[in-house]
Amino acid sequence: MGHKKVCIECKMAFSRPFDSGSELQYLCPECGKPMILLPHRFRPPKKADDKKWETVKYLIENGFHYQHVFKELETKNKLSADHYYVAYPENIRDAEEFVKKYKSQARK
Ligand SMILES: [Zn+2]
Repeated sequence: MGHKKVCIECKMAFSRPFDSGSELQYLCPECGKPMILLPHRFRPPKKADDKKWETVKYLIENGFHYQHVFKELETKNKLSADHYYVAYPENIRDAEEFVKKYKSQARK
């Protein structure tokens, strides 16, 4: 599975070539800090879109690294629960709700 390397500070994202999950660190060409690796499904906002980047940063700081998040179904039917992924929010207000609602699934 491919990953994207992302620098939140510089608002940059690059595709990372497949390297079978080495521990190699990728430094941002702009600021020289280590970049964050996110799953390929992460869609980086446009560089000028500060609000979306702010949302991305907020989600990551709260443990949501664009991993799959599952919808909490009201039924206790585990069979169907596996199939519902929640879409990641694109603005900060939705992100705050998202973090509250799914905090049990945040990365520690
Ligand atoms: Zn940077």
